[in-house]
This record gives sequence, C-alpha cells and structure tokens, in this order.
Amino acid sequence: MIPTGIPIKELFRSFSSHLGKDIRVNGWVRTRRDSKAGISFVELNDGSCLKNLQVIISHDNPSLVEMLPIITTGAGISAFGTLKKSPAKGQPIELEAKEITIYGTADPVSYPLQKKRHSFEFLRQIAHLRPRTNTIGAVTRVRNRLSYTIHRFFQERGFYYIHTPIITTSDCEGAGEVFRVVAEHMEEEFFGRPTYLTVSGQLQAEIFALALGKVYTFGPTFRAENSNTRRHLAEFWMIEPEVAFADIEDNLKLAEEMLRQIVQDVLDNCDEDLQFFARFIDPNLIGRLEMIIKKPFEVITYTEAVKILEESGEQFDYPARWGCDLQAEHERYLTEKKFKRPVAVIDYPRTLKPFYMKVNDDEQTVAAMDVLVPEVGEIVGGSEREYRYDVLVEQMKQKNMNLEDYQWYLDLRRFGSVPHAGFGLGFERLVQFVTGVQNIREAIPFPRTPGHALF
Ligand code: ATP
Ligand code: MN
Repeated sequence: MIPTGIPIKELFRSFSSHLGKDIRVNGWVRTRRDSKAGISFVELNDGSCLKNLQVIISHDNPSLVEMLPIITTGAGISAFGTLKKSPAKGQPIELEAKEITIYGTADPVSYPLQKKRHSFEFLRQIAHLRPRTNTIGAVTRVRNRLSYTIHRFFQERGFYYIHTPIITTSDCEGAGEVFRVVAEHMEEEFFGRPTYLTVSGQLQAEIFALALGKVYTFGPTFRAENSNTRRHLAEFWMIEPEVAFADIEDNLKLAEEMLRQIVQDVLDNCDEDLQFFARFIDPNLIGRLEMIIKKPFEVITYTEAVKILEESGEQFDYPARWGCDLQAEHERYLTEKKFKRPVAVIDYPRTLKPFYMKVNDDEQTVAAMDVLVPEVGEIVGGSEREYRYDVLVEQMKQKNMNLEDYQWYLDLRRFGSVPHAGFGLGFERLVQFVTGVQNIREAIPFPRTPGHALF
C-alpha cells in the first residue's frame, strides 16, 4: 500500500493536534525556492484546498539535498516530517522534511504549468493539467459542494432522484438542437427508430412526478446549438425538479428557496475558495451572492419586462419587442441595472415557448418562468405544465407536432392528470454565478463546444 497522507486542508483546520508530530503529506510541487541560508522551501499542494503546505528541506540532510534537482514544479511527491509552527508571515505551519519520496518527476523545460498566470484559453488546451491550477481547483471544489448541497436540498424535502434516459426518442424542447445517436457500422437504426441525446429529462420526470409526487433529475443534457457564447455548452448538466399538485407560484417558491439555500451553503462551506474568486476573478462576487440570500426575487410578467426594456432608453443590439425572446443583454439590464436582484419573468407569449407549458386564461401567454441573475442571465427555466388534455392537444397541433409520438405524454393527461410544475436549473450557469468565472468553459471539467471536445 502507498502510505496515505493527511489532507492539507485537514492540517490547516486542526493543526494544533498535529504540532510537533511526524506526519505525511502527499501532493504536487507548486514551486521550490533555495535560500542561501542552507534551506529549500517547497510549496506543496494536494488539491484538498487552495493553500499550499510549505515543506522545509534542510541542506544538512545529504539524502534530501541529492533529490533537490528533481523536486521541481509539477513533481508528485510524498513528504514525511515534523509539523512545526512557521516563523514566516502568512502561514501558521510548515513541515520540516525528514524523508521525501519522489513518485513522478516533471521536466521543468516541458511542463506547461509554470508558476505564472496562464490565460484560460491556454489552460483549456491543456485541459488534462488545468485542474492543478488554483482557479480550476477551486471551481472543482465549489462545483462538488454545489452538487452535494443540491441533492441534500431535494432529499431533505422528500424528492426522489430519478435517472431519466440519456438516449431518447423525443426532442423535448422542439427546438431541433439535438444530436442523433447512431451505431457505427450499422445501416439500420439501432433502436429501430431515430434516437437523440437528451436535451432535457423533463418529460420523463413528469411521468414519475405523476406517480411519486416530488421528483428531480440531475444529469447531463446535450444541445447542438451552434452558438459560441460564454454561457452555452453542447454538453451541460441540469437539475430538473418536477412536482405534482403544484402551480407556477409553488414552482417559483421552490426555485427561490433552492437558490437561496444552496448559495448560503456555499458561503458557509467554501469560504477560502470564494475569497480567492473575489480577489482574482470577480471583486463583486460576495456581494452578489449575499444579494441572492437577502433580497426576494422580483417577479414581473414578460409583458411588463418588454415595457421596461422599451422605456429604458438603453441602446440594445436587439431592441426588445413583444413577441421576441429576451436577449442576454435584456436579461442583464433587468437584473443588473433595473432591479439589482434576481428577476423571475413569467407569462411568456405562447409562441416563444414549448408545447407543454400551461396556457394562461388570456390564451396569448403561458405559465412559464425564467429566473434571471446578474452576470449570467437566465439560470432557471421552467413552467406549470399543461395538464388539460384538450388544451394540450390543441397546443401540439398548433406546433405541428405528431400526436402519435407523444401518446404516452397525452396518456398522463387522460389518466389521473393533476396540476404540476417544474424547472431546469443549468448547473454550469450556477457554477459560473457562484464562482464568477466569465466563461462557462471554466465551470465544467471537460467543456464541449462547437469545434472542441478533448479526450
Ligand atoms: P438560453 O435561452 O440561455 O439558451 P434556454 O431557454 O435554451 O436557455 P432551457 O431550455 O429553459 O434554456 O434550459 C434550462 C436551463 O438550462 C437554462 O435556464 C440554463 O440555465 C441552462 N442551459 C440551457 N442551454 C444551455 C447550454 N447550451 N449550456 C449551458 N446551460 C444551458
Ligand atoms: Mn438555449
């Protein structure tokens, strides 16, 4: 067995219980500095936290001195020694090395991650090494915490986690931005009919909501949208709760509680990483996160939103007009300039939204809700679902859909149909919002965008 190390995070959290004792730490060398005073300083990082542990190598120890030339940036090592109080400023502890094992060296000439700031564009090209940077390491830890707290949020409220299919036969959104699934070296359809990578688990989640009451999905979704923006990926993760006996107001309340609680959890548990983002990525980050917690969402109708945009006096690239989709610039104006808080826009024109949204009494709009937040824009998209059989059929006909393909979906309205509602939270947009990274490509370990898929 490989000797285990104490996570560096653990050491910083409870160092008093380790002081004076011999301990082991495993990690990767960030830097090494040799002083004239006969000591070398190695900054060791193990990914458990942002902080490095300083390992002191005394030049009095010949076996360690011999290794110094290969203890270079990027090397994977194990350091064993005594944990001491550090005399240096800014760090409470350091490790005085007695033994070092070098598992893997990293040639200083060819190792791409030297100690300087690299651009995110460059780091994306070495996506196999970028998790070793401060930023991507911190994003990864925050992303992990967010996944955990989202599951906890729903589990504590009695929601059941449903695994909806990744290969589907329906193009749920009707936007046609789907990837086809075909078997290589096979003429005919593998599944006997055309299949796609899912764009959303919603329709299948509805099946289970109308049986178990409260369900959610948390899985990958795929969209062949050929738009190279800073907030679109071809493969992204979505959280989709679906609740029976619920309407649009219940839906809004759930989205608001969810966002508030998960942001609070990250503030409570990822302080070091968030402080790092606030310092190096986005100085307004903490204020923005606190705003989510303190300020109730502004709820406005689409019609009101368009009016506000028309009367704003702003020069938009695409002027807002009733019947047109809200653009990113509109979303940002509403949250960042007009209301300075999250904004839920409800009641969109039915022509803009998919067939399954509940038609409002005005017959012009549907009970949709998009939650917009500063910096990112739309983070949540959802609706109350059309549960009246006749109205749903009417909607599907208007959208030229093939009713045969959706017999099962219509069945849900023929047998025990009840009001129900749900939404999709774009997980990477949430990560973007919580970390402040400008580009969504930094919010996911392996970004897939038009022209780019590594590994
Ligand atoms: P947008 O208008 O921003 O393209 P959308 O209206 O297509 O979003 P929905 O179909 O409502 O979005 O999807 C639900 C959520 O999934 C969105 O609110 C957003 O957070 C996220 N999302 C949608 N498309 C993408 C994408 N291509 N990459 C990452 N997240 C996405
Ligand atoms: Mn989209």
